[in-house]
Amino acid sequence: MDKYEFELTDEIAAKINRYTRKKLDKSRIYAFPVILCDNEIDRDGERFSTAAIEKLAELFLGKTGIFDHEPKGRNQTARIFDTFVCKDESKKTSYGEDYTCLCARAYMVRNEHNAPLIEEIDAGIKKEVSVSCAVAKKVCSVCGRDIYKDPCSHIKGKSYGGVKCFISLEEPTDAFEWSFVAVPAQVSAGVAKRFAGREENADDSISAKMLDEHALMRAALEARAENLYILSGTDEAAAKAICKSSGVSELLEAIPRLSLMIAGGGTQLKRKETNKNNSFKLK
Ligand SMILES: [Zn+2]
Repeated sequence: MDKYEFELTDEIAAKINRYTRKKLDKSRIYAFPVILCDNEIDRDGERFSTAAIEKLAELFLGKTGIFDHEPKGRNQTARIFDTFVCKDESKKTSYGEDYTCLCARAYMVRNEHNAPLIEEIDAGIKKEVSVSCAVAKKVCSVCGRDIYKDPCSHIKGKSYGGVKCFISLEEPTDAFEWSFVAVPAQVSAGVAKRFAGREENADDSISAKMLDEHALMRAALEARAENLYILSGTDEAAAKAICKSSGVSELLEAIPRLSLMIAGGGTQLKRKETNKNNSFKLK
């Protein structure tokens, strides 16, 4: 983070004062750097494209950051007054692109209320930032399809002919807020991303392993649920779509329910006759 630190100069104070209702004296301003997001693949197997990061730099200007998700924490806010995209050609992402991140500068008013927070930020305790934003496209790195419109069967974290599958978050349409909490804000129809200071993270190999295992487990559950949906009379394309869009907990819930349904009623199986092509097959 050191290379992102900056001095509160008159010029910077002037920039901040463009966002304040009353002019703030420099002595009353606390300004600090945050990294909002980057183009490295995160724990969800997703990353922002460089173009998306550039767009987010515009969208996050003036946006409020919160420090707590309790209602009372809503009083504790910081505002972004400057953003810029930092490219580091000496550092590559896991899939070989130049490392790019979205750096922001934020300010808060120095007062009694904010003093403990300022202390924590200075001490480096509040390091993790999550961002909430909406993107228009989620693109599969293997086949290039926009999975919002046209889901594919590639699994995040797996490799296909040497190409690692991840989801590229593209074309941000809105930025909502950013926060200093581990659990990202829930914004409907948006994505919440957490930046976790990966450079200092010694747990990378562990998270990668967990990601692999999670992907394998998900794939197995999906395959099982898909078969059961088909067995219970759902057509194959619909079964695929349902399972693709289901979360792990939904898959875990669907499997015993469908098994029971199939075991309990042979009649369910006969429903395939209503299928026009009758091309039902077990894999
Ligand atoms: Zn794909």
